[in-house]
Amino acid sequence: MRAIQVTRHGGPDVMAYGTAPDPIPGPGEALVRTTAIGVNFIDTYIRRGLYPSTPPYIPGSEGAGVVVSVGSEVTDIEIGQRVCWCDSAGSYAEIVAVDASRLVPVPDGIDDAAAGSSLLRGLTAHYLLDGSAHPSAGDTVLVHAGAGGVGLVLTQMAKNRGLTVITTVSGDEKAELSTAAGADHVLRYGDDLVSQVREITGGRGVPVTYDGVGADTFEQSLAVTAVRGIIVLFGAASGPVPPFDLQRLNPAGSLSVTRPTLAHFIADTDELRWRAGEFLGAVADGTVDVRVGQRYRLADAAQAHTDLEARATTGSTVLLPD
Ligand code: NDP
Repeated sequence: MRAIQVTRHGGPDVMAYGTAPDPIPGPGEALVRTTAIGVNFIDTYIRRGLYPSTPPYIPGSEGAGVVVSVGSEVTDIEIGQRVCWCDSAGSYAEIVAVDASRLVPVPDGIDDAAAGSSLLRGLTAHYLLDGSAHPSAGDTVLVHAGAGGVGLVLTQMAKNRGLTVITTVSGDEKAELSTAAGADHVLRYGDDLVSQVREITGGRGVPVTYDGVGADTFEQSLAVTAVRGIIVLFGAASGPVPPFDLQRLNPAGSLSVTRPTLAHFIADTDELRWRAGEFLGAVADGTVDVRVGQRYRLADAAQAHTDLEARATTGSTVLLPD
């Protein structure tokens, strides 16, 4: 099969397109021919060596496709079924062996590109709203990088729950997308952000701040979060937050900070299927619009990483096998 291999840790140029042996499904696994492969920011952290991995390896964890064979002990997934997944290593490939219990059937009405590049971000948005924090209807939340893959989905799902949403973005086109996703207030990063959020919230600040940008935004997140509020630090697109004195949470308003990861909110198959059912159901009935902002050939995965890291993408990014 054709696949991308990360040959060593480094920039996008360490990704090579070539051939690799077809995987063989073990007990409980299904073999899927990919039709769409999701590109996520975490793929860049792993490629650079910020998260553990041992090159050479096939990157990626998300995709959609058609089941072509199943191993022993697989009972609820059938050959020919259209499926998607978000936590199976080696997904930048034409064929992927996936633990069948981690597969999610793709509902009719959702195309493969949308399913294969939105499940990870959709499940993330779901647990951010109902897992790592629990904002209630009427609350105001701040979502950094509001026009990104997670940001657009999180904004829509937050609006569907009756929240007021403030977002940050870096440019005009991104501001338009964030507004179209339902954001009530779209702000730019920078000096005025804290005073603008305080003004919008009558001086109180927001009870929940969703920060997937990290190093560049964390100080502002501390300054805009309300007394007894929570900062959900869920990513590091601008780099990791430096070591932090916990005592600072006291004068900042008895704040909480959590640093969650999706894996802990879908570890159990029932929880995975519950969150996936709610998210894909909302996509299928049109209450959440999944924007596939960029499509690349699988062979051009390095360009996809370059664009994602250069802030040149919006919404989800998908790789398409030939
Ligand atoms: P995005 O599509 O949101 O891309 C990242 C965005 O971050 C950029 O488009 C950019 O938007 C913003 N950004 C701000 N500063 C920088 C910078 N210095 N370099 C690059 N981007 C920057 O990516 P994803 O949707 O894939 O992921 C968003 C975040 O969520 C990531 O940090 C990711 O690691 C995290 N994540 C965490 C999960 C978890 O469970 N903890 C699961 C899934 C994702 P702008 O130009 O508008 O600032």
